[in-house]
Amino acid sequence: EAITVADLANRMAERGADLVKALFKMGMPVTLTQTIDQDTAELLVTEFGHNIKRVSESDIEIGISGDDDAPETMQPRSPVVTIMGHVDHGKTSLLDAIRGADVVAGEAGGITQHIGAYQVTLPDKSKISFLDTPGHEAFTEMRARGANVTDIVILVVAADDGLKPQTIEAINHTKAAGVPMIVAINKIDKPEAKPQKVREELLQHEVIVEQMGGDVQDVEVSAMQKTNLDKLLEAVHLQAEILELKANPDRNAEGTVIESKLDKGRGPLATVLIQRGTLKVGDVFVAGASSGKVRAMIDDKGKQVKEAGPSVPVEVLGLSAVPSAGDPFTVVDNEARAREVAAYRQGVLDKQRTTAAPVSLENMFASHASTTKELPLVVKADVHGSLEAISHALNRLSTDEIKVRILHAGVGGITESDVTLAGASGAPIIGFNVRPNAKAREVAARSNVEFRYYDVIYHLTDWAKGAMAGELGPEI
Ligand code: GDP
Repeated sequence: EAITVADLANRMAERGADLVKALFKMGMPVTLTQTIDQDTAELLVTEFGHNIKRVSESDIEIGISGDDDAPETMQPRSPVVTIMGHVDHGKTSLLDAIRGADVVAGEAGGITQHIGAYQVTLPDKSKISFLDTPGHEAFTEMRARGANVTDIVILVVAADDGLKPQTIEAINHTKAAGVPMIVAINKIDKPEAKPQKVREELLQHEVIVEQMGGDVQDVEVSAMQKTNLDKLLEAVHLQAEILELKANPDRNAEGTVIESKLDKGRGPLATVLIQRGTLKVGDVFVAGASSGKVRAMIDDKGKQVKEAGPSVPVEVLGLSAVPSAGDPFTVVDNEARAREVAAYRQGVLDKQRTTAAPVSLENMFASHASTTKELPLVVKADVHGSLEAISHALNRLSTDEIKVRILHAGVGGITESDVTLAGASGAPIIGFNVRPNAKAREVAARSNVEFRYYDVIYHLTDWAKGAMAGELGPEI
């Protein structure tokens, strides 16, 4: 598959002339309108320091990468946290309590602005950013769109209720994303709280907390009585130090739209989480398929700010249209360039809607090409016994060369949440005596997730064997 130099330049948000120059240096004199093959395109992309994300063999998408900045430009940045857990276990209460505990917000008189994320300052002046939309749907939806904004997940489990279906989903979504987790055992003020039971239940899902000899930090909290919030924040701080999070603040800003709306008075608004560089008033940008110039920025305390650096969420005024959550936000050199990139992205979006390649075997493996070969799967079954037998049978197929990776296994029909998880990881969904609900089907059609239905286990393992063998190629 080939791509024109101009197209590639657009996707990379680089100048076409720079690509032509680079190609010339590589011994390939071509013009903007000429096409180059995929290998050359990839070489160029790497040359310019971007990440390659293979969506399929014929499609290269440029994502935000964290590694095209020279090591000496990298500076520590604060962590970005998402809170997940079962409904009513206290996600919202915890977000509110943490926000209320922020020393800076307290000083400002407690006037807060809900922009979709906020930052708290710890007594030692270090900061932590929290995404305000709790739950794994938003998290996985973002990831499905290639936006990995979360550094750390806080899993909330109510001590009086224990692990529930959405807790387990959250665990699996977090693991699939490879994001470290901290467990907040909430509602310890309740007389019926059983924190130790929570730890034991977590063990069954391979979340081994420190008290059980593992390395997942766990903190007993009460969001209601604001107990141990400082300990929870310290745990996040510690985890962040282990991660050594860094970004180059001295470059054009790049980030992700985490929330957007149309305001009657102020026009289209977007909250952007800056991931590298520093966004300044006056900067020209592209946000998804819309473009604009930063007219003003408002932080989570409702204050106008002139700049925002890595890990800082800010509300941006000055967009031409309302972008979507998960859209990449990129500062570019000038307005003509912004319009060009925005128009190009719109074209890509339109095309994707009509002709996106399905997430199927052909491209599923490609997306994992850099790591060990894996067959990722989401498995849903009608009864627990079948689910165990299936998981066991599938896991037994793993070899040294290729592994079956069950991202999530659950009892019940296929839901929207299963589809977003599968879509984000390029996995097909196995329905054993179960079918997707209407919403799941709708989302699957949009994200091109493949369903496979079985009612006999060996038919399923036969298919999986074939898929794995096909990937490894013929035996010699
Ligand atoms: P979410 O659905 O996970 O966002 O949960 P909420 O934050 O809405 O909390 C659900 C219910 O649990 C609410 O009635 C809260 O008041 C209550 N709740 C949350 N945290 C605590 C806690 O630490 N202790 C007690 N006793 N109740 C809590």
